[in-house]
Amino acid sequence: MSPDRTRVAVVGAGAVGLSVATELARCGVDVTLYDRGDPGSGSTGRAAGLCYDAYVDRTDARLAARSLERFRELGVLTDRPYVWVAREGDDHAVAAIREQAGRMRARGRTISVLDPVALADRFPAIETDHLAVGAVASNAGYVDTDAFVAAMVDRARAAGVALRTDCPVSLGTDGELIAPDHTTSPDSIVIAAGPHTRALAAAAGHSLAVGTYRAQVLVAEDIAADPPIFYDASARFYLRPADGSVLVGDGAHPYEGDPDEYDRTADSAFLTDSVTRVETTLGQSVTVSRSRAGLCTATPDRDPLVGCLAPGLFVATGWHGHGFMRAPAVGEQLAKQVLGGEGIAHFDPTRFDGDEPIDLPTGIVD
Ligand SMILES: Cc1cc2nc3c(=O)[nH]c(=O)nc-3n(C[C@H](O)[C@H](O)[C@H](O)COP(=O)(O)OP(=O)(O)OC[C@H]3O[C@@H](n4cnc5c(N)ncnc54)[C@H](O)[C@@H]3O)c2cc1C
Repeated sequence: MSPDRTRVAVVGAGAVGLSVATELARCGVDVTLYDRGDPGSGSTGRAAGLCYDAYVDRTDARLAARSLERFRELGVLTDRPYVWVAREGDDHAVAAIREQAGRMRARGRTISVLDPVALADRFPAIETDHLAVGAVASNAGYVDTDAFVAAMVDRARAAGVALRTDCPVSLGTDGELIAPDHTTSPDSIVIAAGPHTRALAAAAGHSLAVGTYRAQVLVAEDIAADPPIFYDASARFYLRPADGSVLVGDGAHPYEGDPDEYDRTADSAFLTDSVTRVETTLGQSVTVSRSRAGLCTATPDRDPLVGCLAPGLFVATGWHGHGFMRAPAVGEQLAKQVLGGEGIAHFDPTRFDGDEPIDLPTGIVD
C-alpha cells in the first residue's frame, strides 16, 4: 500500500456500498469494503429490482436515469416499460397520476398517459376493466439483484477494492473503524449499512433521522401473459415479470426491532391478498412458489440521507424502497464528494437533527 494514497473504508457491500467503493477505487483510492456477511446479503439481495426514471424530482430523475445507463452497461437490465395505474372511483390517485406525468415530462422523462382502452391495446396482459387511467414510463426495466451484485463484486475487485466479507465492524467514539481483527483510522469512512447505518453513526456520536419498515415480495408461477412492470396506485401493490412468473410486492409495515431479528418470511395476509390482486390484474389463477421479507429505511421527508455527516464521515441510507434503482449513480456522486467534490445537496444528511418523526409506509399486514 502506498502511504500517499487516500484510504477509505466503506461499510456495507450492498448496491450502494459496492457502487461507491468501486468508483473510489477507480479514482485511485485505497478502498477497503467491509460486510458483516456476503455482498448483497442485506436489502439488496431481497429487492425486487424494479428500475425506472419516472420521478417528479429533478435530482431523483437524473440519478435514476444515470443508474439505468449503468445497469445497461453491466448487462444486467431487462428493458420493460413501467406502467402505473389508478382505478375507477379513486379520484385522488387519478389526479395524482396525471399531475405526476406532466411534471416528469417537464424533467425530460418519456411518459405517456393512457386511457383504459389504449392501455388494453398496448398491454393486453393487464385486465383494464376497472382502471381509470395509466401512465407509462419507457425508460425502465428490472434487474436480477444477485446478477448485479456478482457483476459489481467483479468490477470492485478489478478496480482494486479490498473486500472483507464476514467482517462486522463498528465505529469508535473518535471515528476509528473497529473490525474483529484490527482497528483503523482511514482518511474517510462511508457507512452504507442499510438499517444498521443508524446504530453505526450513533456509535460515532451522530443521530440520524432514519426509521425502518419491513417489505415483502412473492413469486407467482405459471403466468401465461407477459406483463409490463406494473404498479396499482389504488390497490397499492406492484408486479414485474420474471421468466414465466411474476414477482409481486408491497406488504410494508413499520419495524422497530433489532434489524438482525426481523421475520424474513412473508406474512400469510400478504400472500393471500397479493394472490387476489394478481389474479384480478392478470385475469388468471396463480400459484405462489416462494416469498420473502426484507427491511427498508425511511426518512422524515422521504428523501435519502446521502453525504457528509462530519469531516471524514459519510453516510448513505433512507431509500424508501427505491435505493437499488438509484445506487450506481449515487455511488458515483458520493465518491466524488468523498474526494472533495460537490455532494447531492438535496440529500444532505445534516438537514435533520435526528429526532424528527418519520411517517413509515404501511401496506398489507397480518
Ligand atoms: C422486499 C423489498 C423489495 C425492494 N424492491 C426494490 C426495488 O424494486 N427497487 C429498488 O430500487 N429498491 C427496492 N428495495 C429497496 C432496496 O433493497 C434498498 O433500497 C437497497 O438495496 C439499499 O442498498 P444498500 O446498499 O443501501 O443496503 P443493503 O443492501 O442493506 O446493504 C447494507 C450492507 O451492510 C452490511 N452491514 C450492516 N451492518 C454492518 C456492519 N456493522 N459491518 C459490516 N457490514 C455491515 C449488510 O450485511 C449489508 O450487506 C426493496 C427492498 C425490499 C426489502
